[in-house]
Amino acid sequence: MTPSFATITAPRPDRDSLARDRAAVDALLDRGDVPAALGLWDHHRRDYETWSSLIHLRFAQDTGSETAKADRDYADALAPEATEHEIAIKRRLLNNADAVSAITGAHALALWDSDLATFDPAIKPALEEESRLSARYTALLAGARIDFRGQTVNLAGLDAFAQDPDRATRHAAESARWGFFAANASELDAIYDDLTRLRHRMATQLRYDTYTPLGYRRMRRTDYGPADVARYRDQVRDHVVPLVARLLERRRAEHGWDRLRYWDEALIDPAGNPAPAGDHDFLIAQARTMFDRLHPRMGDFFRVMDQGGFLDLKNRPAKAGGGFCTSFPTAGVPFIFANFNGTHHDIGVFTHEMGHAFQNWESRGQRITDYLWPTMESAEIHSMGLEFLSWPFMDLMVGAEAADRFRRMHLIGALAFLPYGVCVDHFQHEVYANPDASPADRHAMWQRLERIYMPWVDYGDLAYPAMGGRWQAKHHIYSSPFYYIDYTLAQCCALQFWAWSRRDFAGALESYVRLCGRGGVAPFQDLVRSAGLVSPFSDGALRDVVGQAAAFLGVDI
Ligand code: ZN
Repeated sequence: MTPSFATITAPRPDRDSLARDRAAVDALLDRGDVPAALGLWDHHRRDYETWSSLIHLRFAQDTGSETAKADRDYADALAPEATEHEIAIKRRLLNNADAVSAITGAHALALWDSDLATFDPAIKPALEEESRLSARYTALLAGARIDFRGQTVNLAGLDAFAQDPDRATRHAAESARWGFFAANASELDAIYDDLTRLRHRMATQLRYDTYTPLGYRRMRRTDYGPADVARYRDQVRDHVVPLVARLLERRRAEHGWDRLRYWDEALIDPAGNPAPAGDHDFLIAQARTMFDRLHPRMGDFFRVMDQGGFLDLKNRPAKAGGGFCTSFPTAGVPFIFANFNGTHHDIGVFTHEMGHAFQNWESRGQRITDYLWPTMESAEIHSMGLEFLSWPFMDLMVGAEAADRFRRMHLIGALAFLPYGVCVDHFQHEVYANPDASPADRHAMWQRLERIYMPWVDYGDLAYPAMGGRWQAKHHIYSSPFYYIDYTLAQCCALQFWAWSRRDFAGALESYVRLCGRGGVAPFQDLVRSAGLVSPFSDGALRDVVGQAAAFLGVDI
């Protein structure tokens, strides 16, 4: 029987039910029955996560619904209580490490060890304050109402104009965007100033010197640290920055511009960035064909999602912005939420978000909840990897004429993202190493790093980014510290899948599917190596793929 989204339910927990569930697991552990305790606990966690995912998804689907909002507030208020019970159980399981790892393998223990090291009831008020500050930033940006050529648009609404083939339109869109940031400068500075001081205080309460090691633990990174990441940033600086500089110089010359400005960077294809060849229903039908041809398991899985109501892709009033993939561990089928806007972004829903969804589906049989999703840098390999593995089928999405242009645009975009991504990461390392810096100091830090990683940037008359304010548009810097490097690490791996698929498509695809099935059973570098890829932290990981990308794009480096 085809699973249906409409039939997914989970019991609504409350403080009493959480305490009862915890007591039942404790009783089994008291008796020394670790397998039964693990099994019962995992059953509770799947129920809880399914319930929480449903509540958050329903709110995103209709932010105007009072019931959905009340449910979400209830879930958010209950979450710290659930975390405390989880931490207590994880502590007991870590005391039974041998019996547990015989069932789960060692990785679960390393993950729970990270969770224990980042939580203490003493920092609960700080965690609450942190989420209040992050929410203020989100609300500030979400509330943007920008007058643009007679329309009122939000920040996301400017994106299509910012990549318009017409140069004056792109410039006007960026002027409007940065005008909003300039008008809110003091609030943006104040929120981040509060967040960095708060995070530093939290770290010292937990006996770390700075926030950085705590931030790495919160990301559940168990097999690499800041020194590895710094070496990776150097690889990007040495191998990718020169290539992107050449590509941008070529674009400048092709257009006959005297200089390439910041607002020219988003127009990757001189003829206009290729867009989808049709609307929502057209793309769904084409995606069905694409996945059938790509891999029989992907074709079957896409049919399950489509027929079972696990896709919500159209833009509509009161729907939350953005896109994501969420999951219901009791059912095993994930859900894709998106807002189509008619640009190439819509194609990413079927390549990027489907990569996440397919991984979650393939690893639904993993024994414990912790392994249903891997840590974020690994999770983005599945999404960014599928973006490249779907290359041969892009004629279905953008039409035969535009398919080659789409592939070039995608590859150039993937490469150009790396310098920006590592700049965002390097910036945060400097911020948390200097917790007493002033907002003006932070703008100066960003400017200095920008000159290393993006020496080509020319903001022209855009005063706000020109004085070092560009980083304030990146929500991860506010809401998800140290997250951003994950996209760049995954991109390095995805580019390896691209290079592999060009000499042996079937082999690359089989390795990709196997990697999806492993879910989060191991840490990042273990997953990467088991897929036949080179760890981004190894010397030369980027050099080879960058050389192949340069050759593909016809650029000498
Ligand atoms: Zn993703």
